[in-house]
Amino acid sequence: DGGWVRVLPTRVVVPTAEAMHVFGAALAAQLRAGDIVLASGDLGAGKTTLAQGIGRGLGVDGPVISPTFVLARRHAGSGGRPGLVHVDAYRLGSAAELIDLDLDETMDQAVTVIEWGAGIAEDLGGSHLDVDIRRSEDPTDETRVVYVEGFGPRWQGVDLSPLSELPFD
Ligand code: ADP
Ligand code: MG
Repeated sequence: DGGWVRVLPTRVVVPTAEAMHVFGAALAAQLRAGDIVLASGDLGAGKTTLAQGIGRGLGVDGPVISPTFVLARRHAGSGGRPGLVHVDAYRLGSAAELIDLDLDETMDQAVTVIEWGAGIAEDLGGSHLDVDIRRSEDPTDETRVVYVEGFGPRWQGVDLSPLSELPFD
């Protein structure tokens, strides 16, 4: 349908918050300017922690903190890597409101990570990477299981399966 290409999801077991940083940094190595990452998962799942790891991988200087109250934060990359646009879409009703933030040009030159972005994915058009973070049923278990799945031509033929074999320890 309309050229949407589905790539098999990659499942990654992420044991700790630091491992989520390592995972985000490894994912960032696969990302380029214009890419959109939609991070989903419950409150406290680790979406912001993932964004911090992606920021680390892009060489972002300074803290990547939740953009809940400002909706979006921009961070410059370093070493020739793209910057990071970090969006919290929880209070955005639609992709139109995201576009109203006037981020389009910035997004072309950066990796955009959108927390709570799953609901606006269809409106964004183009390609995106879904990163779905699941907590354990057991509240004492910090392990997260992450599903990474590319949608659209950008991700056709991109093999993300090495992400499931990261050495976290
Ligand atoms: P969200 O943005 O999804 O609401 P945050 O990233 O802000 O979630 O919070 C996740 C919390 O869970 C952080 O305090 C983080 O340190 C903690 N944490 C513990 N284990 C993990 C893990 N395996 N992956 C990600 N975060 C973890
Ligand atoms: Mg968050």
